[in-house]
Amino acid sequence: MRVLGIETSCDETGVAIFDTERGLVADALYSQIAMHADYGGVVPELASRDHTRKLLPLIQEVLDQANLERRDLDGIAYTAGPGLVGALMVGATTAHGLARALGIPVLGVHHMEGHLLAPMLESEPPAFPFVALLVSGGHTQLVEVRGLGKYRLLGESVDDAAGEAFDKAAKMLGLDYPGGPNVARLAERGDSTRFRFPRPMTDRPGLDFSFSGLKTHTLTTLRKLQSAGQLDEQGKADIARAFEDAVVDTLTIKCRRALDQTGLKRLVIAGGVSANTRLRERLSGEAEKRGARVFYPRGRFCTDNGAMIAYVGAQRLLAGERDDSVMKALPRWSLEGLQPPRTPND
Ligand code: ATP
Ligand code: MG
Ligand code: FE
Repeated sequence: MRVLGIETSCDETGVAIFDTERGLVADALYSQIAMHADYGGVVPELASRDHTRKLLPLIQEVLDQANLERRDLDGIAYTAGPGLVGALMVGATTAHGLARALGIPVLGVHHMEGHLLAPMLESEPPAFPFVALLVSGGHTQLVEVRGLGKYRLLGESVDDAAGEAFDKAAKMLGLDYPGGPNVARLAERGDSTRFRFPRPMTDRPGLDFSFSGLKTHTLTTLRKLQSAGQLDEQGKADIARAFEDAVVDTLTIKCRRALDQTGLKRLVIAGGVSANTRLRERLSGEAEKRGARVFYPRGRFCTDNGAMIAYVGAQRLLAGERDDSVMKALPRWSLEGLQPPRTPND
């Protein structure tokens, strides 16, 4: 079965084709980052308009890549939420229009289920069950995954997501949006012993996170250096390093707890922050110590992409699930409410 996947939940237009027999056969991405950079963050109205401009050309591009015609497609999957409602509507309307014209099934996919299962696109995918750390721009969650659509939330951020904290810290340090990769780059030159930032909520049991305090801590440290006349490039790099170390350490402590609590030996990390090198190294080291293994997507599939949506859509459409008569665009949608594929006989 050949499934076209469409991702338009935020500032990336992603399109891909997943073939249930051959795997991923085409993948294209257009990032709006440069357009939003001038505003220091994503402007929803501009995002929707740009998806409208880029989506059809990208669909043609993946068909060309795979040497296929539209009529060779067997199904279409699109991100139905969570995300920016206007941006989601572009993907949803295009997917439904195209599916109707081609007479093939269409399915709305959960964006975070896409991130969660993105490591399945790699050559050595994790087997179920596993613990997943979802760390992106809008989410920080620990999830116990028993199978497709079998998700139990173990813990999540009570305020900012880890990616959001990276983006805000970047802004304070005068770095461009999206801040994660830029903070990480600056941190490489930082001295890890100069400042020690708090590891929020690690001194009490539980698997929830909080990252908004780190933001305040970053600002206070910046101001102190500034008033002492020491806010030079080195000072900023030292702050970036302290910030990154605090986030990585906090995430690592909670992952360790989640593995202990569930007794599972496989850890998946996915979402934009899973591209962070220091986080990957720390988690791999920790896992090795306890005979566990870490899985993550290739860098390109850590952030938003069409491949993860095509993959999830293909698994569910193949099982017979479809929602041809309901066009979905859900700004808020909980991952835990998902179910295994609804087959026509259910
Ligand atoms: P969500 O998936 O929760 O709806 P999103 O789609 O905006 O949010 P992603 O595209 O998965 O999020 O990830 C983007 C986030 O990842 C940004 O906050 C960005 O700063 C962060 N990020 C990307 N690369 C890195 C990195 N190397 N280190 C830290 N953070 C990173
Ligand atoms: Mg993005
Ligand atoms: Fe995302």
